[in-house]
Amino acid sequence: MTALILDLISPPQPGLAPAPAGKPSLAGLDRAGLAEALAAVGVPAGEAKMRVNQLHHWLYVRGAASFDAMTNVSKHLRARLEEAYTLDRPEIVAEQVSADGTRKWLMRMPPAGPHDRGAEIETVYIPDESRGTLCVSSQVGCTLTCSFCHTGTQKLVRNLTAAEIVAQLLVARDRLGDWPGQEAPDGAIVPRDGGRFVSNVVMMGMGEPLYNYDNVAAALKVMSDQDGLCLSRRRITLSTSGVVPMIGPLGEDINPALAISLHATNDALRDTLVPLNRKYPIAQLLDACRNYAGLSNARRITFEYVMLKGVNDSLAEAKALVKLLKGIPAKINLIPFNPWPGTQYECSEWETIEAFSDVVFNAGYASPIRTPRGRDILAACGQLKSESQKMRARERLALEAEAMKKLAVEAFYAHGADEA
Ligand code: SAH
Ligand code: SF4
Repeated sequence: MTALILDLISPPQPGLAPAPAGKPSLAGLDRAGLAEALAAVGVPAGEAKMRVNQLHHWLYVRGAASFDAMTNVSKHLRARLEEAYTLDRPEIVAEQVSADGTRKWLMRMPPAGPHDRGAEIETVYIPDESRGTLCVSSQVGCTLTCSFCHTGTQKLVRNLTAAEIVAQLLVARDRLGDWPGQEAPDGAIVPRDGGRFVSNVVMMGMGEPLYNYDNVAAALKVMSDQDGLCLSRRRITLSTSGVVPMIGPLGEDINPALAISLHATNDALRDTLVPLNRKYPIAQLLDACRNYAGLSNARRITFEYVMLKGVNDSLAEAKALVKLLKGIPAKINLIPFNPWPGTQYECSEWETIEAFSDVVFNAGYASPIRTPRGRDILAACGQLKSESQKMRARERLALEAEAMKKLAVEAFYAHGADEA
């Protein structure tokens, strides 16, 4: 853990990719978007389908970053595409690599209008032996104001486009050498089981994905396209704070693995932690969960529960949690709270988390927090806090955001996933 902490406070590397030019980029577009782009440069309708398939293949199977690479596309068409478009990814403002292989990219999206400087978002890669998980953002900031979450305090909020969501995966695969014929950079920690370096995606970065439904759904379709990026939908998890009306459609349209940020067992408390609960209270949320398409013991819903000292961590609440989830194929994910400057909350004591997790475990749920790894993660919580007091505000915030995501994702996967 010390290594992780020391390494994370090393200064971020400066910009790695050129700023995007004025031309629009095709990177991240779906088939419909590619078809429009081709039509705009005069590709006749009769050729459109074949050309879309070619572009799609080069972009998402081969990882092409230039039109020159597209050897089966005529020179003439390549030149026309080059004149009108780029294949640029979002600019990488900073890349941080920690000793345990976690990578964080701060990316700047191209300006959306004359007064937009270009929003910055974060994407985090967390490798272990058998999987590489990419934590993807769905919005810049978040309009919801969960009282324990730092993202909710950010002022600037906008939805990411579907292409911007997909582009986060492209950047990660570029930087990890995760395309045919490429290799991982020297010393990189990636799964060495012969599979993809990015094998899983979790929509647990910045933003509430179900408040940007259309773009998120379109992006997940591109990520899971069999003739493209080809991620199994079972390896894509969407975490929501509980946007009830969109849970049904999500199950029908996309059906990714579902994670619910529950964090409390009664409405009075959840109203204060996750204010969206006032609109969609616990009973409605759990009903939507019970009806989620494809739910079974092999495809359970993960309930996230952030451990807040003296707030939601009593044994009575552990028992209430187990009772509440009775009958729903569920996993329970206890997340140690990661403090940030100005927060009113503290992370629960280790003993409290252990006692809470015993109740959960005795009710038949695997309890990752019992493992030594859980203890390490918790230790990081406190250490990060004291280390971070020495840092400049910007570095500190970046570090804390990464640590938060890491805690959530580590806890999530400590269960052993139900993946295809
Ligand atoms: N908006 C979505 C997804 C992004 S947040 C949602 O709320 O589910 C991803 C996870 O991180 C959520 O479970 C969220 O509750 C949790 N989280 C947010 N802030 C945290 C913090 N400071 N410490 C630990 N977990 C946190
Ligand atoms: Fe938004 Fe999720 Fe943070 Fe709540 S926990 S403020 S929904 S990002």
